[in-house]
Parts: sequence; structure tokens; C-alpha cells
Amino acid sequence: MDRLADVIIDRVAEGLDHVFTYRVPDALRHDIQVGQWVRVPFRHGRVRGVVSRLYDDREPPGTKAIEAIEDAEAVLTPALVALAEWMADRYLCYLPQAVRAIVPAPVRSGAGRRSQSVWYQAVGERKGRPSLKHAVFSYCRAEGLVSRETLLARFPHAERAIRSLVAEGALAVVMSPPVAVAAEIPVKPPELTLTAEQQRACDAMLAVPGRSWLLEGVTGSGKTEVYLTLIQHALETGRQALVLLPEIALTPQTVTRFRHRFGSAVAVWHSGLTATERRRTWDLVRRGGIGVVVGARSAVFLPFPALGVIVVDEEHEPTYKQEEHPRYHTRDVALWRGAREGATVVLGSATPSVEARYAAEQGILGHLRLTQRVWGKAMPTVELVDMREELKAGHRSIFSRRLIEAMTHTLERGEQAILFLNRRGYSTFVLCRSCGQALECPDCAVSLTYHQEGERLMCHYCLKTFPVPTRCPQCQSEKIRYFGAGTERVVSEVSRLFPRTRVLRADRDVLTRPEDYSTLYQRFYRGEADILVGTQMIAKGMDFPRVSLVGIVAADTALHLPDYRSAERTFQLLVQAAGRSGRGTAPGQVVVQTYNPVHYAIARAEHHDYNGFYQEELRYRQETSYPPYTQLWLLLFRGIDESVVRDQAGEAKAVLETVRGAVDVLGPAPAPLVRVRGEYRYQLLIKVRPLSGVERELTATLKQLRGAFPNLSVTRDPYFFM
Ligand code: ADP
Ligand code: ZN
Ligand code: ZN
Repeated sequence: MDRLADVIIDRVAEGLDHVFTYRVPDALRHDIQVGQWVRVPFRHGRVRGVVSRLYDDREPPGTKAIEAIEDAEAVLTPALVALAEWMADRYLCYLPQAVRAIVPAPVRSGAGRRSQSVWYQAVGERKGRPSLKHAVFSYCRAEGLVSRETLLARFPHAERAIRSLVAEGALAVVMSPPVAVAAEIPVKPPELTLTAEQQRACDAMLAVPGRSWLLEGVTGSGKTEVYLTLIQHALETGRQALVLLPEIALTPQTVTRFRHRFGSAVAVWHSGLTATERRRTWDLVRRGGIGVVVGARSAVFLPFPALGVIVVDEEHEPTYKQEEHPRYHTRDVALWRGAREGATVVLGSATPSVEARYAAEQGILGHLRLTQRVWGKAMPTVELVDMREELKAGHRSIFSRRLIEAMTHTLERGEQAILFLNRRGYSTFVLCRSCGQALECPDCAVSLTYHQEGERLMCHYCLKTFPVPTRCPQCQSEKIRYFGAGTERVVSEVSRLFPRTRVLRADRDVLTRPEDYSTLYQRFYRGEADILVGTQMIAKGMDFPRVSLVGIVAADTALHLPDYRSAERTFQLLVQAAGRSGRGTAPGQVVVQTYNPVHYAIARAEHHDYNGFYQEELRYRQETSYPPYTQLWLLLFRGIDESVVRDQAGEAKAVLETVRGAVDVLGPAPAPLVRVRGEYRYQLLIKVRPLSGVERELTATLKQLRGAFPNLSVTRDPYFFM
């Protein structure tokens, strides 16, 4: 018998989809571990790889030996190695891609490993006038542990302020962050008593450790307090906790709530960290020195040795779906890790995804509800304004008379308002302004997309095209037009109507870096503006006590995207946006402008009726064979020659149709964004009926296609159909 190791080779160019076996030389026998980086001979050179399995067997002929262990400390836990294999299989990426998704670049390259940088940590509270010194302290207080580089990058002239804070004892200098075991981390007792509903939810989850749950709680019902209780319990029993948030919700304010309770046990993980910070946090987590990580999507891969709780807050958020390889869904990875590592998983939302709610109904997830806002605070009143009536009355502003009136009152009372525009970049649908009808494909019940080239309307599911009508097919009105107003237009309209009002704008054009969100957040929180105008990116996670009015400028926009989730997205956006109102003392008011007030996504949002919405949506999904009744794969072909791309998609379809039974292949159809950066894009949509038993055969066929067409990208459970 020989000691053998399977190794995932760290090379992405070759499309390696299996592990390679090496002999473990006697000299390395005692030190080698699963998850370590090793150096191995590969083809004509040497490469690095991760040990995925160690076992004894007869050595196959031609087996080469591992040359060296690169790092004594395993970079991946055994669970993460298994996760890489699971992801490669589930999302059809290559193994090295899965490893690279898990291990961030700075950790992979070892950058900063031996850096002896100085770190600062805020101690206690510090009162003071606004000054550079105070700003530095507050920043450290909010961030927990801050490296000197980061601090000076943020406050370039703070050298003296830092020195003086250190002299005062307000900042502690940390040469290398303390490595403690999670159990020894001091935990502050909670300062409030849980409500009966919160207590019931906590009790249920603590009674069955390691189970996965859907926590369905209306906005302001205190879901975070439930998370805090579970996390505290995990820490007290020597385990770690992971809190996943959509990137946008990772505001300093949210992080502070966790820091307030768990102090320096909390680390953050998001795209704004420096290489050194990533490296250090990764190492600390792996050594058990960090009790709680609050992070965005990629934090789901951190190497916790003793994971006790995973929270996926706002689990319905589409940003949890990774659009690049491996195209994983954070929620699915979290559920997989929970099951494998014995951690309790909590999926929290006021508006659960249809998938999660369905899983709860099937008993796959435990189902807990928080139905009341804390302190019995009322849900904001939601008022629908029918924009067709505005037009009939000759009122042509993008703001209805009702919304203008509400804005006037809000400003008079010195309160704040948020105006949302549920607009995504490319929505070009055609809407009748008289009857509110958007033009739809008669076969697929999705909105038709306007194509400038050829002046046609096209269904992106079945490929049929239609001429652009000059009259509404429903009511014969000529007031039919392409839709879309940008945030800039809304801002200028506000300024025109209310010249002395201070307006802030929040959309993807002005908020590019993570720190932009917090700056914006703080400015609006401090009252530096009266009205905040933004896209859906500001619809969640933000808690402004002085906001008493939320206006949804165009509720229909997301409704007409060529996407089977468009009603779900619309409902979620409306309810989440409404939830931003009335979180302080002033009662909340929401004005929703729509051309389609009877659509169930909008009508149900008016009454905060998630259940009613869910039932109708489920019926629609069943009738049209969409998830959760089927499972989808989206295949996207790209290339500079349109006819080649179209033919390839056609060939692939022919191959897929040989997979027997239970799969429908729709297309080939041009993607809604048919040309991006000079490349044509064609797609196929595969619907698989569950339990049809074709999964394996389909996967094998997809792998074969992936090998045949390098310009093909394959997405399981797609979210982005453009
Ligand atoms: P959600 O995440 O469900 O929208 P939050 O957790 O943000 O709700 O809670 C809303 C507000 O209620 C927060 O300001 C929070 O501090 C407060 N809160 C939550 N639970 C309690 C409680 N049991 N007693 C008093 N206040 C609470
Ligand atoms: Zn009409
Ligand atoms: Zn169609």
C-alpha cells in the first residue's frame, strides 16, 4: 500500500475537471493534511495545488511524488475542500475555479502573510467635538480592528491625531491581532427583552441545533435581535457565527449593532478590504480567533473551524447569486455548509424568495414567523396612485398630485422622504399609458422587449417577434410608448417643484465603492438632505428614523422585465421600500405610483400581504412551468459572428434534445442584450422537471457542451436573463 493524495491543480486555463493523484513521500507523511497547498510536478513543469483527499492504495503506474508542502497550515478546512467539489459539480465550473472562488487572491498568493503592520483598536467610548481626531476614533470604533495603512489611506493627515489618541489610551496598538478562542470572547448581555415572538423563534431554533430555517418577519419585527441571540449562544458554546448581508446592507450602522454586542470578536468581510486585511481575517477565522464575521456574499467561504450559526439576512436578494464562475447562490452554499458542518442556518426576510418559502412548506426548512413590528409600531400605510387617472386629468408630471401633496407635507413638518425608482438599466418595454397594458408575448406571458434594430418587439423566451404597434391592442389608445425615466430626471423634477429642498441621489452611477454607501447613509441620516432619490439599491438595510414618506415613482418598471421573477421582484421591492418608512416616531406613509394597480404584485403589496402574493405567484409558476416546479439552466453563447453564435446554440439544442424525457429546451433566442461589447449573445433555457431522474445525464451532456464550446457559459438557477 502506498500513501496517496488527490490534488486539485491550481490552473484555470486548461479546464481541469478532475483531481490528480500523487504519491506522498515518506518525508511528508506526517505533515501532510487535506486542505494544504502543495507543490507538484504537472505536465512539463511544477504547479501548486490543494490536497483534496489522503488515502492508502496501490500506486497507479506513472504516479509522481509531491515535491513539497507549501504552507504547513492548511488553507482550506476539510469542509471547504468538499465544498469546492460540490460547487464544481452543481454549478458546472472547473475544480480550480471553485477553489479560486473560495480562496481569495491575497490568501492564495500569500501576499501580506509576513507583514508586520500595526493595527489599532478603539477602546471604550470617547466624547468630543467633531474633529479629525474624533473622526479617526469613530472610524476605528465602527471598524473594530484597523490597520495603519487603511487608517492613513482614509485620513491622510491623521498621523498626529493617531499618536495623540494612542497617548490618551483611546486607541490600543495591536501588533498582531489577538488570537483567542471564540469561547473566551466576552459577550455583553442583551439590553432588551425579546418579544414573545422573538423568544419563540429563538427557542425553536436552539432546541434543534444544526437545522435550517426560514425566519419570515415583517420589516421592523426585530429579526436582527433574533440573530444576535443565536450568535450569542453559539459563542457561549465555543462556536463561530457568520452573518451574510447583501453588500448594500453592509452599512457601518448594521456592523455597529453586532460590534456593540460582541465587541472585537466581530470582523467584517466585503469587497473594500485591502489584501492585507483579507489575508489576516482569513487566517484569524481559520484559527478560531474571530467569533463573528459580518460579510457580503464571499464571506460564505471563510474557513471557520467550528461554525455554529449562519445567518443569511434578506435571503431573497438577487445579489446573493454570483454571476461569474462559479455561478453559485450564496443561500445554497450556506445551506450546504450548515448541513455539512452542523451549523444552524437562518434565512431571514420580510419577503422570502418563492424558493425559500416553498422549501419551508415542503418541510425542507423549518418555518418561523415574526408578524408584529416591535413595540406594536404600525406598518406604514400604502396608497396606490393610478397614473392613468393622472394622465386623463391632464397631469403629466412624473409625480402624481397625491405624491406632490405628500412631499409638501413631509417637507413642511421637517421630516424626510425617499423616492424610489425601480429601474434597472436596460428595461425597454412598451406600455400603454391609457390602460396600463404592457405588451406581452401571447405564448410566454413575459413582456416583449423593444429592439431598436429592425424596430421590432421580441419575446426573449420563444423568439417570436412582433411589429411595434401604433395603437394599444387592448384599448386602441395612441398613448403607447417606451418606458424609462432615470434618477437624474427625478432629481431635477424635485428641484423644479421644491427649489429650496436639498436632494441626494443614490444609484449605480454615483455609488461605486462600498464607502460611498456609508458616506451617503451618514449624510442623509444627519439630515444633510430632505429627499433621497435612488434605485432599488437603497431599498433595504437602511434605517432612517426621520423618514416618514416613501414614494415609489414607477412601480411597474420591474414588472415588465423579461424575467419570470419580475412579479416577485416587484412585490419584494415595494414591500422592502415601504419598510423604510415609519421606523422612527413619525408614522410611515408610502405612495406607490402605478399604471397597473390591479396587478397582484402591486395590489398585494398595498396590504403587505405576502401570503396572498405567494399563493398567486405559485399558481403562475405552476401554469408556466417555472421554479419551484422546474429547475432552470441558462446557456449563453457569445461571439463576434452572429450566425455562428446562433448556429452553435442550435447545435447545442439538438444535443440537449437527445437527453431523454422531462427536459424542455427553449430557444435559441437572442439575449435581450443581444450585443454586448461587440459580441452577439444567444441563449437557451432548459427547464427540468424535478425528480425526473435526468439530472445526471443532463449534467454529463452539459459538461460535454462546455468542452465543445469555449464561448458557452452555463448558469444553474439563473437570475439574470438579459
Ligand atoms: P428587522 O431586521 O426585522 O427589520 P430590526 O432587527 O432592525 O428589525 O429591529 C427594528 C428595531 O426594533 C431596531 O431598532 C431594534 O433595536 C428594535 N428592537 C428589536 N427587538 C426589540 C425588542 N425585543 N425590544 C425592543 N426593541 C427591539
Ligand atoms: Zn391601452
Ligand atoms: Zn414567447
